[in-house]
Amino acid sequence: MMPKDDDRRSCPHLPELVSEGDIRKRVGDLAAAIARDHAGGEPLLIVAVMKGALVFLADLIRRLPMPLEIELVSARSYRGAHRQPQVEILDDVGSLQIAGRHVLLLDCVLDSGHTLTALREEITARGPAALKTCVLLSKVRPREVAIEPDYVGLEIPDVFVVGYGLDHGNRWRHLPYVAELPKACTSGEDGR
Ligand code: 5GP
Ligand code: MG
Repeated sequence: MMPKDDDRRSCPHLPELVSEGDIRKRVGDLAAAIARDHAGGEPLLIVAVMKGALVFLADLIRRLPMPLEIELVSARSYRGAHRQPQVEILDDVGSLQIAGRHVLLLDCVLDSGHTLTALREEITARGPAALKTCVLLSKVRPREVAIEPDYVGLEIPDVFVVGYGLDHGNRWRHLPYVAELPKACTSGEDGR
C-alpha cells in the first residue's frame, strides 16, 4: 500500500537510533569475525533474508576477503508494525544448493526469533556442512523462540525501526542510518 500523503508531511525526517558511523564500524567488526572463522576454508554461501538484509548484505560482502556466494530468500513475520505469529517463507529454500555447503544465514534484525529459527530449520534440513547465523541488530526483549545468533552487530531497544534496508510499508529502506519509527508515522495501517 502506498503511504498516505499525510505520512509524507508528518514524517519528513526520522531521528537516528544507530548512526551511519556506528553501523559501519560494527559491519567491519562482523566481517573481521566471519573472515577469521572462515579463513582458508570452503567458499562461504551467504543466504540473506530479503528485503530487510539488502543493504547489510551489500556492505558486509565488500568487507569479506574470502571466496563467497550469495543466495536470497524472502520471509516475513510482520505486516507493517504489527507482529504476525507465523513466518511466511516466500521462496522455496529447497531450490538452493545447500548440501555440504558452509552457510551463513544473514538477517538485519532479530526480534521474536521466529524468522531466523524457521529459516535455520529449513536450511539445516538440507544438510549443510556448517550453518551459522548473523544479524546486524538484535532487539533486547524476551525471544518467543530461543535462538542465539553466532554473530550480532548491535543490540537495540524493543522498538520498531526503519532504515538501512528496513521498511515500513516498503518505505524508509534507503536511510543510511537506523531510526525508530514514531507511532504517529505508522498511521495504524497495514504497512506493506
Ligand atoms: P522476528 O521473526 O525475529 O520476530 O523478526 C525478524 C523479521 O521481522 C526481520 O526479518 C524483519 O523483516 C522484521 N522485523 C522485526 N523487527 C523489525 C523492525 O523493528 N522493523 C522492521 N522494519 N522490520 C522488523
Ligand atoms: Mg517489512
